[in-house]
Amino acid sequence: MRQQRVVIVGAGIAGLLLATRLGERLGKAGRAHISLVDSHFTHVWKPLLHSLAAGTRDVNLQRISLLAHASGHGHVFEPGALVSVDREARRIQLGPLLAPDGRVAVAARELPYDWLVLALGSGIHDFGTPGVQEHAHAIDGQAQAERFNAALRSAILRAALQDTEVRVAIVGAGATGVQLAAELSELMEHASGFGDARMRRRLRLSLYESSPRVLAAFPEAVAMATHHTLTKLGFEVHTGMRVQAVTAGSVQLTDGQLHHADLTVWAAGIKAPDVLAHIPGLTANRAQQLQVLPCLQTTGDERILALGDCASLQLPDSEHALPPTAQVATQQAEHLARHLPALLQGRALPDFRHRDLGTLVSLARYGAYGTLGRAGVLPGHFLAGRVAQLGHAWLYQCHRAGVQGWGRASVVWLAEQLQRLAMPPIRMS
Ligand SMILES: Cc1cc2nc3c(=O)[nH]c(=O)nc-3n(C[C@H](O)[C@H](O)[C@H](O)COP(=O)(O)OP(=O)(O)OC[C@H]3O[C@@H](n4cnc5c(N)ncnc54)[C@H](O)[C@@H]3O)c2cc1C
Repeated sequence: MRQQRVVIVGAGIAGLLLATRLGERLGKAGRAHISLVDSHFTHVWKPLLHSLAAGTRDVNLQRISLLAHASGHGHVFEPGALVSVDREARRIQLGPLLAPDGRVAVAARELPYDWLVLALGSGIHDFGTPGVQEHAHAIDGQAQAERFNAALRSAILRAALQDTEVRVAIVGAGATGVQLAAELSELMEHASGFGDARMRRRLRLSLYESSPRVLAAFPEAVAMATHHTLTKLGFEVHTGMRVQAVTAGSVQLTDGQLHHADLTVWAAGIKAPDVLAHIPGLTANRAQQLQVLPCLQTTGDERILALGDCASLQLPDSEHALPPTAQVATQQAEHLARHLPALLQGRALPDFRHRDLGTLVSLARYGAYGTLGRAGVLPGHFLAGRVAQLGHAWLYQCHRAGVQGWGRASVVWLAEQLQRLAMPPIRMS
């Protein structure tokens, strides 16, 4: 009998974990053919991107080669970007991947599937704001984070040579915005040790948030503690204020004010990739996330499942859809890894149950704040300081171990600690 083909698109937090688990369980035993598609050749844990953008952490050690990983974990890596889905023929179309010199590195092609799992994540949502595409940076992927870092290093060098300031505007004070702000402060503190003692004072950073408070999706105690830390760092935090346009050197607010900025980062809103809005028969919401049933099958096609940031799921006992977080993506991947093998044998998928394990936000060396979730002891208990910082670091280690095993995850952790002893603490070139 022909092996069933499971095609997972998106090698992010959810997709990579799912492909690894299914590959180990089904792929290695020859019980199914598991493919993992991504438009990048490496995986980086997305909550590390703001440190990559700031240059406060060398993420080269943290990258996982998708090709090498697949060969050891029972699945096949298929490089390519999903451009369309033919539900009738059960095939997906992948666009070509280009090499840095512009030539086609991987040709466009089609892949057949029996079960398609979409784990494409999300990016920023500019809500049609003029100038964002042309003049603002986003920190949604490795390439964007690298681009911002290159622009940041140029701006710092210019400021040092011309004895001026580095003015940074961050639009959106959610987890990405506030964590990036703290990383930039840490970067400039380190940079002060390399010949220009006034470097930290050159950083003029403003955060703009349309909600009445920072971290609108987090518990109030976490938001208040974070706001306090940001203002203590000397940052201007503008809440209840909307940016209506971005230009090459400024952000324009709805009340007409113009604030100058050498670098603008757009960290507001979320939107799933455009391709999802154009799959005939599937329902997407305004953020282009696919509507899924509690079992994670899409509402329009039981052969297509979606999870993580690109899926919208409102559980029966909840007033809101689940938030786009690493925690939800991981739990959904674990759910499918457990139950997809039975689906392949004709049994129904059970409903996904979310365990609220709490919230955590890490502000570089200045602290971390969070709350314990409803699923554990002391529900809602506020966390701060070293415990919260260790909790954040632990989450990453758990992701890494879930994908690569504790042995390899520990070696990478140790290598990073040793590297810190020998290398500058920030990226210099
Ligand atoms: C800077 C930053 C900091 C964050 N910090 C936190 C945090 O502290 N805590 C927290 O819980 N969450 C945080 N998040 C959110 C968290 O990272 C996401 O919720 C999580 O990554 C979602 O996982 P996912 O698997 O759905 O998607 P992702 O991890 O985003 O993976 C999506 C994958 O799909 C691939 N892809 C996209 N489009 C295509 C296509 N057309 N074809 C092929 N492949 C494609 C991408 O290359 C990517 O590998 C942060 C996000 C950012 C950007």
